[in-house]
Amino acid sequence: MASSEPVAAVDVLVVGAGITGIYQLHRAREAGFSALLLEAGGGVGGTWFWNRYPGARFDSESYTYAYLFSKELFDEWEWQEHFAEQPEIERYLNHVVDRFDLRRDIRLDARVTAAVWDDAAGRWVVTTADGAAYRAQFLVAATGVLSVPFFPDVPGRDDFAGETYHTGLWPAGPVEFDGKRVAVVGTGSSGVQLVPIVAADAASLTVYQRTANWCTPLNNAPITPDEQTRLRAEFEAMCATLHTSAAGFLHEPHDRATFDDSDEERRAFYEKMWNSPGFSKLTSHYTDLLFDEAANAQWCDFLAEKIRGIVEDPGTAERLIPKDHRFGEHRPPFVTGYFEAFNRPNVTLVDLKQTPIVRVTAAGIETADGLRELDMIVWATGFDFGTGALSRMGVRGRDGLALTDHWADGPRTFLGVQTTGFPNFFFPGGPHAAAGNNPRYNGDQVDFIVDTLVYVRDRGHDTIEVTPDAEKIWTDMVDRGAERKPSFGVSSYYFGTNVPGKPRKYLLNSAGRPKLFKEIDRVRATDYEAFTLSRSE
Ligand SMILES: Cc1cc2nc3c(=O)[nH]c(=O)nc-3n(C[C@H](O)[C@H](O)[C@H](O)COP(=O)(O)OP(=O)(O)OC[C@H]3O[C@@H](n4cnc5c(N)ncnc54)[C@H](O)[C@@H]3O)c2cc1C
Repeated sequence: MASSEPVAAVDVLVVGAGITGIYQLHRAREAGFSALLLEAGGGVGGTWFWNRYPGARFDSESYTYAYLFSKELFDEWEWQEHFAEQPEIERYLNHVVDRFDLRRDIRLDARVTAAVWDDAAGRWVVTTADGAAYRAQFLVAATGVLSVPFFPDVPGRDDFAGETYHTGLWPAGPVEFDGKRVAVVGTGSSGVQLVPIVAADAASLTVYQRTANWCTPLNNAPITPDEQTRLRAEFEAMCATLHTSAAGFLHEPHDRATFDDSDEERRAFYEKMWNSPGFSKLTSHYTDLLFDEAANAQWCDFLAEKIRGIVEDPGTAERLIPKDHRFGEHRPPFVTGYFEAFNRPNVTLVDLKQTPIVRVTAAGIETADGLRELDMIVWATGFDFGTGALSRMGVRGRDGLALTDHWADGPRTFLGVQTTGFPNFFFPGGPHAAAGNNPRYNGDQVDFIVDTLVYVRDRGHDTIEVTPDAEKIWTDMVDRGAERKPSFGVSSYYFGTNVPGKPRKYLLNSAGRPKLFKEIDRVRATDYEAFTLSRSE
């Protein structure tokens, strides 16, 4: 049912009810704007609504990922584990929505299919899949970088007669692995979380690996009562670190380089890293880990030795050791019992580089060495990263310019929040922001956007649009940084290379959060020189 009359007209229309969009809605309302949020899913939580697969959990420490804007909220939510599991995270985000009375301004099952700038009216006209139309002065797409599941183009994929799932579209109801012949295709961050759980229940589990990844232990643990008390007592200090640190974590940076240490000291340090939590293996590592190939190779040798020590079958161990990239070049997955799962008699590893998938049939998956019959296929094959959701939202700016045309050669942004030709359109948590603990720098962008909306309102302007120069400088900075040697991530989804036909462009911001801070400060100091502001007559 197409409707010409808008069902609502608001100052700020937010798209996406993930951790970024929920915060955006809260901040916009707090600043006195009328606001509404449209979400495609049937619940709030974004990533933590869609990725319900068993084993889905944080790789960021729970309390560092969670909102920090309210001490009361922080005090009342007791995270159970240092790295919480999906159900707890979804519960938390629902709690936030209710606690701040946000649900009345959220419409679920509302997928935006078109968002068109009406220049004469100075408004966005936004349409959802059911034909409802909304008008808004400002449109904020908090649509996520990992929110469009990607399926590889395998012949016969739809012919399979058994159960099929994607980790990023997991059903709410129970999925039973018991006694079934299960395939998990993909060994990125999601696949490796799922594998040990399926392995424990399934009659057989075949893991189809295209790229071996440098998996290291997550080292999760329950949060003890003493730790809970300390977290609350040290809240302000924790916020100070999280609000300023380059990657948005609490991890202490190390002050030594790899070859400052003797072989023996280095070995002890690597053991300490192996036993350290989550991303600290990147953020507290030797200072040259990502910048010196020889240093990186030393760490990779240590990891390879660990894998050989865990996996009993030498052939399987070798296939699980990455040979085509260094540590940190891909998003490092963190695991609990992943390598150990391959010691179970019911688990088989298929290396798709050696034996590629030929086709999927009604009975199972056929690779170059034959057909394996299956009851269930789980596609853990990732996402159309960075621009996937924004490019599917039907966004058209000034003079009908389609966002997909403006970004045909890759995203062009300023601060990862605005793009030229699309007045009053913002996309926090989209491409080009920073890298690290996601909610921290997405939150920086939301704060900047709300300050900007207030700035526009207080000065009596109606529209704001980034200048072509400012967009070019930021985009060139991101692209140049990504080409700098050593060029980490070239073969990873950070460059969109997992999606055929996508321009090979860096989708994060290689200069990271410090650059974001610096440029936001510059915008303020220069009175929004990077933007064109205008008012209707
Ligand atoms: C399994 C998994 C684990 C992760 N773990 C971590 C971690 O430990 N640490 C970390 O920092 N990051 C992690 N991430 C990255 C994660 O995506 C971000 O941390 C965070 O969820 C981003 O929040 P967001 O609100 O920006 O986007 P999302 O959570 O992706 O939310 C975007 C929302 O927008 C909605 N949407 C998109 N398009 C439309 C449309 N056209 N109309 C209406 N609604 C739309 C989607 O349905 C979705 O609900 C993980 C990602 C995955 C997939």
